[in-house]
Amino acid sequence: MKIDIVSVFPEYFEVLNLSLLGKAQAKGLVEVTAHNLRDWTHDVHHSVDDTPVGGGAGMVMKPEVWSECLDELLQLEPAVVENTENIEDSAVSCDTYDTCDSGNSATVAVPAKSDDSEKTNIAQSSAGPVLIFPNPSAPLFTQQDATELSHADHLLFGCGRYEGYDARIPQYYRAQGIDVREYSIGDYVLNGGEVAVSVMLEAITRLLPGFMGNAESIVEESYTGENALLEHRQYTKPAEWRGIKVPDVLLSGNHAKVDRFRRDEALQKTDELRPDLIEALDCTKLDKADRKT
Ligand code: SAM
Repeated sequence: MKIDIVSVFPEYFEVLNLSLLGKAQAKGLVEVTAHNLRDWTHDVHHSVDDTPVGGGAGMVMKPEVWSECLDELLQLEPAVVENTENIEDSAVSCDTYDTCDSGNSATVAVPAKSDDSEKTNIAQSSAGPVLIFPNPSAPLFTQQDATELSHADHLLFGCGRYEGYDARIPQYYRAQGIDVREYSIGDYVLNGGEVAVSVMLEAITRLLPGFMGNAESIVEESYTGENALLEHRQYTKPAEWRGIKVPDVLLSGNHAKVDRFRRDEALQKTDELRPDLIEALDCTKLDKADRKT
């Protein structure tokens, strides 16, 4: 998998040479290159931002610098978008919104529930680059997205800074037929996209075949698989530590009982902490014992 990252702080990604991702690069599983967006500027100050149109605080990342950079990395010729009416201008387009009455006079828009069947499936589509912008006001990045993106051949991440990037950048590349994604990594605001990209990158690359020493360790994890749950609690030796014992059943050597205990724990924990995941379970794929829990 080829991964390009564009940032005004490319040094931030030197850390990717460490640990498992460093090993994966050494093995040739992934090739990560961090680029400095300022290399595509032409002015003496290497400026990448400008004041917001319409006024307001802060600065916004300029489209011209980004487009020179992205055109080169995506090997695209510059183009002019003739008809802007039919192109989506954001990760959540207006027509994916349901409107609902807020009670009094105002009508508010709320995101429509996403229909998974409409999502692009990289595994089945022709492999092209995927352009990803971290954005706190975009849909949440999930394990499902990580799994899907782990099938891509080429990921290109663009790290925002300041008040963010000009909204026409993702709009333009969608119009050029590029698979453009915008993701939030959580309901909080970071200073820049670098941390968010690191999070997504790690979640995606650890799913690559050959990345983990033991492939089994990514099979039964939290949020993983079609009936995803939170994982059961984990223990190691000694059997008793500072007066706290591991559950007896885990020492029994009875694999069926251990599996059942862990499964029950996972179901209970998920019910307590993430009832939304329990509600999303496909009951036809649960066994009798699951349903009892
Ligand atoms: N003005 C933006 C807002 O209120 O939504 C926040 C911009 S933030 C200071 C600068 C950049 O950090 C964003 O363009 C994005 O790339 C990144 N960023 C910040 N928080 C993020 C989050 N929760 N998830 C993904 N990216 C985030």
